[in-house]
Amino acid sequence: FDQLEGEIWYNDEFVPWKDAKLHVLSHGLHYASSVFEGERAYGGVIFKLREHTERLHKSAELLGFEIPYSIEEIDEACNELLKRQGFEDAYVRPIAWRGSEMMGVSAQHNRINLAIAIWQWPSYFKPEERLKGIRLDMATYRRPDPATIPCESKAAGLYMICTLSKHEAESKGYADALMLDWRGQVAEATGANVFFVKDGVIHTPTPDCFLDGITRRTVIELARKRGYEVVERAIMPEEMQGFEECFLTGTAAEVTPVSEIGEYRFSVGEITTNLVNDYAQAVQPVREAAE
Ligand code: PMP
Repeated sequence: FDQLEGEIWYNDEFVPWKDAKLHVLSHGLHYASSVFEGERAYGGVIFKLREHTERLHKSAELLGFEIPYSIEEIDEACNELLKRQGFEDAYVRPIAWRGSEMMGVSAQHNRINLAIAIWQWPSYFKPEERLKGIRLDMATYRRPDPATIPCESKAAGLYMICTLSKHEAESKGYADALMLDWRGQVAEATGANVFFVKDGVIHTPTPDCFLDGITRRTVIELARKRGYEVVERAIMPEEMQGFEECFLTGTAAEVTPVSEIGEYRFSVGEITTNLVNDYAQAVQPVREAAE
């Protein structure tokens, strides 16, 4: 990825992709003082850009630092970079971190850096697997108690558990892993939220210790618009036995059907299929009527 073409927006400058470097003594690298976003552009427009940028600011605040660029400035930088990169459909990755001015756990006065990279990242899961539903492993590690970490922050440090879980799942031939929370309730996948369907009703865990995804909220809205009942509640893993359909939601994953989680099996049913299509439609920019 460090060899791609184009430019990266780096502390208010557009720098050649290969030159967007940071020092090895960056606090963000040693102590995980880093927060990021994942966004997608469709037809040249970044979907829900403002919500993502607001979450980036909030993620930083939860880690005790302030990004030295306003929400408006970051939105503008993302839009400008998208144009300069020349993509219609692309993935957008802003990241903010504490710099290398001081070394040690305390780094109150280190510079807060911000970079934005945009590249083409068509499908998070293999397209042929997506339609049939992907297979998930049950993760070994759990999402931590909110009393132990600021779990609403999209903080790099929280992804340690996700990478461990995803690597373990992939080594066993699965596409991803489902993580439980510290109480043993169903939480989320390693980079996406999870939904289930039973008797025409959609069930999804209450996001009280993991990311309340922007896609998750969009899909809940789309489901309710279709007249589906959506219930947010605590879900125990044993309940998966009785669920008929399952899908993941996330900016990168979009709406991805799931066929298998550990010992449980699901079909790619009507509700999942409808929401895959509704989401695909919702992300497209509204075009002015031609001529
Ligand atoms: N959970 C985790 C751990 C994630 O990384 C993501 C992707 N950002 C999500 C959920 C879904 O969030 P969103 O829909 O905002 O992309």
